[in-house]
Amino acid sequence: MTSFAELGLSQPTLEALADVGYHEPSPIQEQAIPHLLQGLDVIGQAQTGSGKTAAFGLPLIDYVDPTEHEVQALVLTPTRELCIQVTQALRSYGVRKGVDVVAVFGGAPIRSQQAQLRAGGHVVVGTVGRVKDLISRHSLMLHSCRFVVLDEADEMLDLGFLEDVERIMALTPSSRQTALFSATMPPEIRRLADQYLYNPVVVQVKAATLTVDTVAQFGLQVASKDKVAALLEVLSAERPRQAIVFCRTKIRCEQLYRTLRDNGMNVKALHGDMTQGARDGVMIGFKEGRTPILVATDVAARGLDISAVSHVINFDMPNSPDIYVHRIGRTGRVGRSGRAITFYEARQQRDVEAIEAHSGVRLTPWSKDAQGDAEPARPRPKRHSKPHDAERDGGEPQLRKLIIAGGRAEGVEPRDVVRALTAPTQLDGEAVRNVVVLEHYAFAEIPAQDADHVLQAASGVELHGRPLRLELVRA
Ligand code: AMP
Repeated sequence: MTSFAELGLSQPTLEALADVGYHEPSPIQEQAIPHLLQGLDVIGQAQTGSGKTAAFGLPLIDYVDPTEHEVQALVLTPTRELCIQVTQALRSYGVRKGVDVVAVFGGAPIRSQQAQLRAGGHVVVGTVGRVKDLISRHSLMLHSCRFVVLDEADEMLDLGFLEDVERIMALTPSSRQTALFSATMPPEIRRLADQYLYNPVVVQVKAATLTVDTVAQFGLQVASKDKVAALLEVLSAERPRQAIVFCRTKIRCEQLYRTLRDNGMNVKALHGDMTQGARDGVMIGFKEGRTPILVATDVAARGLDISAVSHVINFDMPNSPDIYVHRIGRTGRVGRSGRAITFYEARQQRDVEAIEAHSGVRLTPWSKDAQGDAEPARPRPKRHSKPHDAERDGGEPQLRKLIIAGGRAEGVEPRDVVRALTAPTQLDGEAVRNVVVLEHYAFAEIPAQDADHVLQAASGVELHGRPLRLELVRA
């Protein structure tokens, strides 16, 4: 196994790594870091959990010269959750060297982000829409930005941000170094790479399989009405250090959260009906270890990396084997082991078999006497963490819900909804939240202040060959 020092990282970065407690590089880091340090463009096919953030983040920090007061590096992310996570990681890697990392994302007041950019900022981590916005307001200049990372490029594609990504790339110097990370490589992403990367080195890890190998996986057959009691039993027997409990819908998530809370547990919920500010608060609290149990929906927890998670509990079966792998990939991260317990009803036996076939692992029947190596619960030290910008700013926009005629049966995908609502309007892609596509309808939320304008401008534009029909859902 190669050491971080052998990969060629500088002394302050190596010291920062000792601070954050990384002892040896993960496979994606081992492969990507030397190329990036040599100044080559890199395509990294890797998922959350592989250590991809450090794979680009450490060379990025090494690249930055803190005595130069210009934006030297830009990381574009598809979501604000990922933006916050990447920022936290880069700050920890760059603290010894004095690198200033500014996060810019939608849904928080733009003025405080403008002020932070004015005050300096060697590295900007931003969501696509907000970066574009800050560029158009001349608050963000990219002429000295010679290190660009596109993180989770396939997610950007799914959310309909690709054109904006290209516009932003076009504003950076052509001599820049570019790294593109993506879990999958659809043709649009290959095309993007062909156009914007120069002779890239491709590095790849199969994070999902690697991750799954380090997770002990259990199944528990339980009737729907007994699920809550079973969960309480599992939690008391397993005594997880930190657990995510997955529910299928926002409503079930909220109900389960209340039930656990009423049972005296220290628990938080994370789902799309909460405001972004509240979601950020929950996410940060969980990541810092202040919340031992998080009840979440798949969408809300997407891309969330929580390395200390010891347990994933599938209170509701995932809708597909892929989602299963994605959920349990949140535990058993780099060098740690985790446990995943999946509840299923008798009628869901076939879904369990599909999961087993996909992951190549048989689920061991869970019983409360077979805990063996589960980690005992430990009280965690209280931390007085600084509130995050989004919490401090608090300026969460009021949202209105739209219903759109057309759904899966008509071939509508979430990105079509985002496009239909943004292309003919002044609306930013990120302002469109909580897109849900059902069989014949879709829902999306937009800032209340934009509702009238969007209704007018988007009505009748083409969505899958038919004029778009949309209405506000009464609150
Ligand atoms: P990522 O895939 O970038 O989201 O990282 C997954 C998690 O692994 C994060 O919590 C990192 O802090 C952690 N991590 C990344 N690299 C290492 C490493 N070399 N050793 C230990 N933990 C790591």
